[in-house]
Amino acid sequence: MTDVFGSGDHEQVVFCRDEPSGLRAIVAIHSTALGPALGGTRFHPYPSEDDALQDVLHLATAMSYKNALAGLNHGGGKAVILGDPTRGKTEALLRAYGRFVQSLGGRYITACDVGTYVEDMDVVARDSEFVTGRSLSHGGAGDSSILTAFGVFQGMRAAAQHVWGAPTLSGRRVGISGVGKVGKLLVDHLLADGAQVVVADISDQAIERVTAAHPEVAVVADTAALVREPIDVYAPCALGSALDDPTVAVLRAKIVCGGANNQLGHPGVEKFLDERGILYAPDYVVNAGGVVQVADEIGGFDFPRAHARVAKIFDTTREILELAERDGVPPAVAADHLAERRIADAGFLHSAD
Ligand code: NAD
Repeated sequence: MTDVFGSGDHEQVVFCRDEPSGLRAIVAIHSTALGPALGGTRFHPYPSEDDALQDVLHLATAMSYKNALAGLNHGGGKAVILGDPTRGKTEALLRAYGRFVQSLGGRYITACDVGTYVEDMDVVARDSEFVTGRSLSHGGAGDSSILTAFGVFQGMRAAAQHVWGAPTLSGRRVGISGVGKVGKLLVDHLLADGAQVVVADISDQAIERVTAAHPEVAVVADTAALVREPIDVYAPCALGSALDDPTVAVLRAKIVCGGANNQLGHPGVEKFLDERGILYAPDYVVNAGGVVQVADEIGGFDFPRAHARVAKIFDTTREILELAERDGVPPAVAADHLAERRIADAGFLHSAD
């Protein structure tokens, strides 16, 4: 089993079991330096408990960085429920999970992630007050992809400013891999800005939804074909690990900026992007719109307020790209440094209390 104390600097890791409902979950709180840890609950059939533990530790750390750079007063945490969400997700299990979240007394606030939906959070919330990302009918803000896509677009504008000197994608050709909830809304923003768009998705339905609304959007067979297209910007909006060495080797885009989480397939790929002269806008910086939304919901959702905060992704992305250039490091490294500085500064304030 992964050595929790040796493999990271997490504050707390909680293993949860409820025999009657079959719940097996792990909650990982990476940091509460900036405030209560905020991050979603992933429901996934992990091959082993160790896979689940490694994933939750990694995801919780990533949330600390994402929340810090989104300017939220939240630390990072994440939870995983071990099991098949299509079969194992019962009311009893979600409510048992809610009792565990409640037992942490607000050190961890949960929300949706892969395999969980706003309706599930409504059920979890029957037994816990520390739940956000709720449905509209329960006073929540609903689908977070609207602000996520808006934030990705802001990050892309900032990257365009950095590379081409103007904060617009007008006249550029943008390739989007994955036109689900986030990718489809990103198409809308890009077309409105005057960009040309080419897309790939494994789902015919997803493609049809885009081309029905926008016949001018070009379609290619798959992501492998998309990355070989003459595109100015590549926007990964499907699953993780979109950027591996073979992909970066053939990529013709000058910018990578998309909504998908964990785009860097392995350590070092950010350096390869740099060497190839491809500017990578760090995923967790540009896709923070969703977490800004669920954070805003905690105090009573206000769309204009959340929208204004997501618009700041433009400034944060610019700052990171400028820092990266100044320090001669890849943007992913500059983003990590900036996040670590904010967390450390806040930790210092706490210790001075
Ligand atoms: P989604 O499931 O609605 O869309 C994903 C799309 O990718 C689907 O249309 C799917 O068919 C397609 N896809 C899957 N594998 C593919 C492949 N190999 N090639 C091409 N297309 C493929 O999910 P979403 O909510 O749009 O999220 C997209 C990404 O953004 C995910 O990585 C998610 O973690 C991340 N993200 C989403 C949010 C949000 O608010 N929804 C917030 C932050 C990050």
